[in-house]
Amino acid sequence: MEKIALFPGSFDPITKGHVDIVKKGLHMFDKIIIAIGSNVKKTSLFTLEQRMEWIKKIFANDPRVDVKAYTGLTVNYCKEVGAQYILRGLRSAGDFEYEQQIAFANKELVETVETVFLLSSPYYTNISSTIVRDIIINKGNYSKFVPEGIVF
Ligand code: ADP
Repeated sequence: MEKIALFPGSFDPITKGHVDIVKKGLHMFDKIIIAIGSNVKKTSLFTLEQRMEWIKKIFANDPRVDVKAYTGLTVNYCKEVGAQYILRGLRSAGDFEYEQQIAFANKELVETVETVFLLSSPYYTNISSTIVRDIIINKGNYSKFVPEGIVF
């Protein structure tokens, strides 16, 4: 059976840290669906269309990576698209504390979906979309943090 992982997040915007996790995930899964969720607690800087467009451009040459938008519970969306795994990246102990709670809740909701964590590569540990947004808003040089060819 094809191993499909859903990589959910806001991707506002996508960073080199996200891309690193997807590339590592491709060694483990047959297909990765990058799924942009509407988070009720977060307002985004970029529109859903813009965020999807950048991700599509970055992975244009890799048919194993798909980009989708979803609403509602991540586990329900996993069932909808046939993903057996949720892929998440970990940068720090803080990330782990937060992610562990969500993973437990998801497991309670849908037993068959397994959350898989991949550690961020040291070079990307300090990159977050929040920092990148700050740099963009304040007209700083963001190029080191985002994939090549992405211009805001
Ligand atoms: P969310 O709002 O769900 O946290 P994000 O777009 O911020 O969405 O992140 C999506 C996923 O990517 C999360 O699992 C997050 O931990 C991971 N991630 C974000 N930045 C990095 C990074 N620099 N290295 C590794 N993983 C990262």
